[in-house]
Amino acid sequence: MRLNAKQIAAYTGGTFAVEPLDPRALLTGITWDSRDVCAGDLYVALPGERADGHDFVAAALSAGALGALVMQPVAEDVRALARELGAAVIDVPDTAGAVTDLAREWRSHLQGRVIALTGSTGKTTTKNLVRDVLAAAHSVVATVGNQNNELGVPKTLLSAEPETEAVVVEMGMRGTGQIAELCSFVRPDWGLVVNVGESHIELLGSRENIARAKAELLRELPEGTGLAFVNAADDFAGFVRAEARLDARRVPCVLFDGSPDAAARRVAADAADVVRPAVWAEQVELDEQGRPRFVLHAAGFGGSDAAAPHGEQASCSLNLRGLHNVGNACAAAAVGRALGMPLAAVAEALAHAEPEAGRQEVLAARGGFTVVNDAYNANPDSMRASLTTFCALEVPGRRVAVLGDMGELGDFARACHAGVGELAGTLPLDRLVCVGELAMRIADAAEAAGMDAARIVRAATVSDVLGEMDTYLEPGDAVLVKASRFMGLERVVEGLVN
Ligand code: ATP
Ligand code: MG
Repeated sequence: MRLNAKQIAAYTGGTFAVEPLDPRALLTGITWDSRDVCAGDLYVALPGERADGHDFVAAALSAGALGALVMQPVAEDVRALARELGAAVIDVPDTAGAVTDLAREWRSHLQGRVIALTGSTGKTTTKNLVRDVLAAAHSVVATVGNQNNELGVPKTLLSAEPETEAVVVEMGMRGTGQIAELCSFVRPDWGLVVNVGESHIELLGSRENIARAKAELLRELPEGTGLAFVNAADDFAGFVRAEARLDARRVPCVLFDGSPDAAARRVAADAADVVRPAVWAEQVELDEQGRPRFVLHAAGFGGSDAAAPHGEQASCSLNLRGLHNVGNACAAAAVGRALGMPLAAVAEALAHAEPEAGRQEVLAARGGFTVVNDAYNANPDSMRASLTTFCALEVPGRRVAVLGDMGELGDFARACHAGVGELAGTLPLDRLVCVGELAMRIADAAEAAGMDAARIVRAATVSDVLGEMDTYLEPGDAVLVKASRFMGLERVVEGLVN
């Protein structure tokens, strides 16, 4: 961003507790972590449960912040420091709300395309793929990591420059209306729904409600310039399109499809005369490391493919593991193709994309075995995808899955854990280690599905898991570690790797 202190005060309804030395000096970034401050930043003091951002205003100013947003009176010594450094201190009614106010204003300065994406599973992965594809031909700013909430989303917008060609925004949600709220200031030009799964079903009650909440992203896309991207392989694809009233509002829809029946579905769509621009994958296979190779197809975008029955094609391979990433890659390819990139350039960019830490990251452990670190988070869909991917890896030794509780499933928790157990029980796993209270349902269901009870371990704590692994693992073995964030299973990964 590039805003001076006067604009910031005006946009946020703030008053100066300390006037800036130079009212025209531009503030060029925003942060609420005083340890991350860069020279010229605006520091936002957020009240928190563990620490209050107001205690770090002095540290932020000393680190180079050119302004601070506060919602509590600031001590005289801090104000004196601000005066000495020429920085502004702006008093606002609500600092978190002020971040959104700034983003709302800044949005109208952005000339590039704002592309928002949401979905149940794979948002960050797909966001990174979209970023990497577009970056091959355009200037891009994208959500950093997983900052997809009411603070991270405005921060993403504020980190774009007016001339940035594409701004890629990941949007997370936990309930109805939240995506609509984010869209009210993001005002996306294009919107992409990665998929409709089961995460956050505790709060939403049904998959229909989850689908409706995702459709909020597409509902407000502008007629004329708006473009929707929907996963044709998703059983809720039609529901999402209808819910967003895309056809009625004449917002075109690009379909992407990374599933094995993509080609058949495409033929069926052609037969029904509903040809839409689409990107899909054919001849999908996994290499010995579980990395997909496939032929990427695109049709209906106009241009060179107009006459070709199967559209354009390009061979593609990914560094990301698992079949589910084919769909994520098709989504990213669809965005790249819609922006006019040649399919070959899209495929080339996809081939260079790297996975983010903690998402099926393959690590070599000191004992000569392999650890697949998927401890970043879990829900039923990603748990199933992860297990299947893990079992497709070629492993010289044995396969061990360490699975922990999945959170936020409410009344569905027992059934969802049992569902994962049923799958695990039928997969070629040599050991299934379940840790946590809910994960016991995974163990029970795996046993009921026919897995030998001697191969199932029920662990209460991370140290129990590490103790078990210590006696069991041998060189050549591979261990998958996965659970929801709150389980902290990265401690298992650290214990195994270090
Ligand atoms: P969050 O809700 O934390 O933002 P997210 O939607 O951003 O999650 P990712 O962080 O991209 O999701 O991936 C989380 C997990 O889901 C990883 O284990 C990843 O391997 C798996 N995953 C990614 N894409 C898919 C997909 N399309 N289907 C199923 N699982 C997936
Ligand atoms: Mg994410």
